[in-house]
Amino acid sequence: MTAIRNIVILTGAGISAESGLRTFRAEDGLWEDHRVEDVATPHAFRRDPELVQRFYDLRRENVLAAQPNPAHQALARLDREWPGELLIVTQNIDDLHERAGAQRVLHMHGEALSAWCTACDARHHWTGTLLDSPPCPACGAAALRPDIVWFGEMPYEMERIFAALARADLFVSIGTSGAVYPAAGFVQQAAGHGARTLELNLERSLGSSMFDETRLGPASEIVPAWVEEVLR
Ligand SMILES: [Zn+2]
Repeated sequence: MTAIRNIVILTGAGISAESGLRTFRAEDGLWEDHRVEDVATPHAFRRDPELVQRFYDLRRENVLAAQPNPAHQALARLDREWPGELLIVTQNIDDLHERAGAQRVLHMHGEALSAWCTACDARHHWTGTLLDSPPCPACGAAALRPDIVWFGEMPYEMERIFAALARADLFVSIGTSGAVYPAAGFVQQAAGHGARTLELNLERSLGSSMFDETRLGPASEIVPAWVEEVLR
């Protein structure tokens, strides 16, 4: 572990699963029994906005009821104690990294607890519902949508992510299947710039062969163990 200064961590569904939050599964294309094309595309929102708003109103409720687990807490400790650069890039829309105390977090797929006004482009912290078409607190228009990156939309802050990957000495992927691009390509980006790469996952993933090392087990066990090791 010598000469590691800059760390980029990618987190996915596996880290929040132990907090009871389920997300889109690549294997069957279902998210809480809904087909992705019915709830997670711009076309779905145009076709049936009520269905989509109701779906994310429920996701928001689930997120508010969930609690961070030891994996979130371990990463928050690493964020607090790590003296070098660190960026937690999460594919998750929950705020469990932040509630555990992490600050250097980037939500590449948006946030359940955020509403985006399609009239004035403002974003608002949001814990209520959107199904009832509440007015935008900034402009008054009833034009709020979930601040979620849907399939076919560009993930947030890709330039910042690629810049961090280019500077990383260590890239760690936690609880993600390696199936959804562009995140699935981060390991190659980081390795191409000379970073060591580590995968922490429940089971071997599609991308496992691209990592220098893979450790298997529940995130709530293997993430705290790894953080302990890296801070030693
Ligand atoms: Zn507005």
